[in-house]
Amino acid sequence: MLSVKSFTFSPVQENTYVLYNEQGQCCIIDPGCYFPEEREELKTGIDKTGLSPVMLLNTHCHLDHVFGNKFVHDTWGLSLHLHENEKQLLDHAPQYGEMWQLPFDNYEGPLVYLKEGNIPGHSPGSIAFYHEAGGFIIGGDALFNMSIGRTDLPGGDFDTLVNSIQTQFFTLPDDTKVYSGHGPVTTVGFEKMNNPFVKLY
Ligand SMILES: [Zn+2]
Ligand SMILES: [Zn+2]
Repeated sequence: MLSVKSFTFSPVQENTYVLYNEQGQCCIIDPGCYFPEEREELKTGIDKTGLSPVMLLNTHCHLDHVFGNKFVHDTWGLSLHLHENEKQLLDHAPQYGEMWQLPFDNYEGPLVYLKEGNIPGHSPGSIAFYHEAGGFIIGGDALFNMSIGRTDLPGGDFDTLVNSIQTQFFTLPDDTKVYSGHGPVTTVGFEKMNNPFVKLY
């Protein structure tokens, strides 16, 4: 069984997730820590619980989800796992950083491509991590509490996104918790009933 610990980082208020098992191993998903004190908060949060990070993952590579990749790599020696279709976004992230006046040092270590997972349509290779036994999904920026991800950014596609929410999120059990890239945790059942952007049928 996996448990989830979350942090909210950067001026963009991005959610960073740490998934850990009973053996004390953890995955760091979308480390959005931007400021030195946020990086320290992530490190302390992991250290004080005695967890040892074994994997670094990105649901997708928009700027706000990759700020801390290099820090995680430098601190724990982890290689980045992502979908191949996100490589281009990752490569361009520093340029977007300049544009948004959030310059940062990009991750330049090895890339490990994930072959499986859903492609929600928020960006070309954005994926979600579903843990059936734990009853939760780390959904990236596809589905939010009462909202959905932007599709006006490079590589986004509205119809693909809505279709993936209907076919890949709304087919999960209603009590499945959805940990989104931004905002509070929600559930599949709540969003089915209340999300104004996605009709059930
Ligand atoms: Zn995004
Ligand atoms: Zn985001």
